Amino acid sequence: MDFGFDAADEEFRARARRWLDERLGPGGAFADLHGVKAPEDADRRRAWERELGTGGWIGLGWPEDSLTRQVVWFEEYARAGAPDPLGIVGEQLLAPTLLLHGTPAQRERYLPGIASGTEIWCQGYSEPDAGSDLANVRTSAEPEAGGGWLVSGQKTWTSLSQWADWCFVLARTEPGSRRHTGLSLLLLPMHQERGRIEVRPIRQLDGVSEFSEVFFDRARVVDVLGAVGDGWRVAMTLLSFERGAGMLGRQIGYRRELDAVLRAAANSGADRDPVLREALTRQWADLWVMRANALRTLGRAEPGTAAVAKLVWGNWHQRLGELALQVQGLPGAFAGGRAHDPEAYPLTPAQHTLLFSRADTIYGGSDQIQRNIIAERVLGLPR
Ligand SMILES: Cc1cc2nc3c(=O)[nH]c(=O)nc-3n(C[C@H](O)[C@H](O)[C@H](O)COP(=O)(O)OP(=O)(O)OC[C@H]3O[C@@H](n4cnc5c(N)ncnc54)[C@H](O)[C@@H]3O)c2cc1C
Repeated sequence: MDFGFDAADEEFRARARRWLDERLGPGGAFADLHGVKAPEDADRRRAWERELGTGGWIGLGWPEDSLTRQVVWFEEYARAGAPDPLGIVGEQLLAPTLLLHGTPAQRERYLPGIASGTEIWCQGYSEPDAGSDLANVRTSAEPEAGGGWLVSGQKTWTSLSQWADWCFVLARTEPGSRRHTGLSLLLLPMHQERGRIEVRPIRQLDGVSEFSEVFFDRARVVDVLGAVGDGWRVAMTLLSFERGAGMLGRQIGYRRELDAVLRAAANSGADRDPVLREALTRQWADLWVMRANALRTLGRAEPGTAAVAKLVWGNWHQRLGELALQVQGLPGAFAGGRAHDPEAYPLTPAQHTLLFSRADTIYGGSDQIQRNIIAERVLGLPR
């Protein structure tokens, strides 16, 4: 496969760079969001999402687009220090799944809201007793008189749900069903008049709340993605995007974080320490391997390749978090940055990377689960 950029890609890059710089650069309408990581200011982040939509930058890969253009966009997005998009779940996870499993009417209904940045989605999979063991889902849905479904139960660790307009919920639609059978992937609005949905934000180590517990009490479902009872298969397709290709943008963004660590190492003199120097070089080389692997698997929803990708990028980012502080030495550990919240410990970007990266080997399926998938489904080893 050729990952080179041609003249049209470079013209596209120049356009993307100009567009981003005009908005995020000094004096730009969104300069306050430059370099921001956590979704602190929901109104501004929503406005940014809509700006991306108006610019036509969301959904570049649907249904099929140039692979290199997506890569160019992600590279420029990271280079500009643009914030992590609030719409990532809709754009990177739900949209490709809709393209595979959705009806034409569903694609027509949901893709435009995602592409315009006006409809933010969250992922309702995990429950208190159904994380790695997702087939243990207890949230259930009962048929509603006149058609449709009503969902009741609890989800947890639901990222971005405080800001979401929609949620896709893995729920049991067949009473008495067990494990992978009798599940459906249900689409429902987070703000509704009849059913009750309560979102309780979970406060993280770094003081912010990016995810929440979500309680559903006879919440109204407006659509089922895939056939009723076939939710496990649809949910797994979506997970493959989460572990593999859907994270391409984030992986490309890692380059910027690595550059910051390399600069910090040069400033502190840590790059003259042979042990740290070797670790930094390895980190740099591994990023190139990861990038090539991500490009190779882009658009594929295979459990094996996605599991390998997830293992590699999760651990890479975790090592980067450790290196980020190591190269700064003791001052890096004690320095405080901008406070998200007056009561929280003020974190520097390096401290944020270290703490957030602890989650990289958990969300989207932990390392142990990825290894189980590789062992059983790729290598054919016994359970
Ligand atoms: C930052 C973050 C964001 C998240 N966002 C979302 C979201 O938006 N939506 C959502 O639905 N979920 C989300 N999650 C939840 C995430 O998917 C779960 O945390 C993850 O699947 C692990 O489940 P658990 O926390 O219940 O841990 P458990 O399943 O209880 O696992 C605990 C430990 O046991 C190990 N373990 C479990 N089973 C096995 C096994 N069979 N073999 C070997 N080891 C095993 C695990 O690897 C882990 O180390 C998020 C999590 C994080 C950290």
